[in-house]
Amino acid sequence: MNNKVRGILIGRMQPIHKGHIQVIKKILEEVDEIIICIGSAQLSHELKDPFTAGERVVMVTQALAEENINPSRYYIIPLEDINYNAIWVAHVKLMTPPFSIVYSGNPLVKQLFEEDGYDVRNPPLYDRLHLSGSEVRRRILNNENWQELVADSTIEIMKEIKGVERLKNLSVKEISDL
Ligand code: NAD
Repeated sequence: MNNKVRGILIGRMQPIHKGHIQVIKKILEEVDEIIICIGSAQLSHELKDPFTAGERVVMVTQALAEENINPSRYYIIPLEDINYNAIWVAHVKLMTPPFSIVYSGNPLVKQLFEEDGYDVRNPPLYDRLHLSGSEVRRRILNNENWQELVADSTIEIMKEIKGVERLKNLSVKEISDL
């Protein structure tokens, strides 16, 4: 399709943070177009996966707009999990535009695509100690500065969807379910 070189990055983006944004910019130096898959699209309203696929699509779109990244250079595609790891790569291929390079730091994702013969690359990790979805969620729950880890537009969306309250309610529910 137009002989474009496409790379794919698959992440839960719960929520998108500055590490994801930096890695997307880095990948765009190497490929014509990037496919950003919002993984585990079926999950929401859980402590580890609080935001819906639709909310995450908006967060990613607006964070990339804030960076002035040309929208014609990326696709954002929600992707549900399936029960069978052995056929997951076929599922990803079914749901996305053709791609030749896979970018991932996730060992299972890398293994599955390598076994299918893909060019799998390990993108650099930026400040992984602080830039991770779990750290953003931990800081939200502990009333610490999570805002510095995400784009300004993500902070706005969190206000709109009452994201902080949602996460705190989920943690109360989880404790009461014990
Ligand atoms: P994630 O959001 O934690 O990370 C996605 C990618 O972002 C990482 O691989 C890494 O390359 C990059 N990244 C994260 N933090 C970074 C930082 N600080 N600096 C630079 N880059 C950074 O998502 P994940 O959990 O790895 O997502 C994998 C998805 O694939 C999940 O949704 C999982 O369920 C899905 N999956 C599904 C199946 C199946 O359905 N059978 C199988 C394998 C994987």
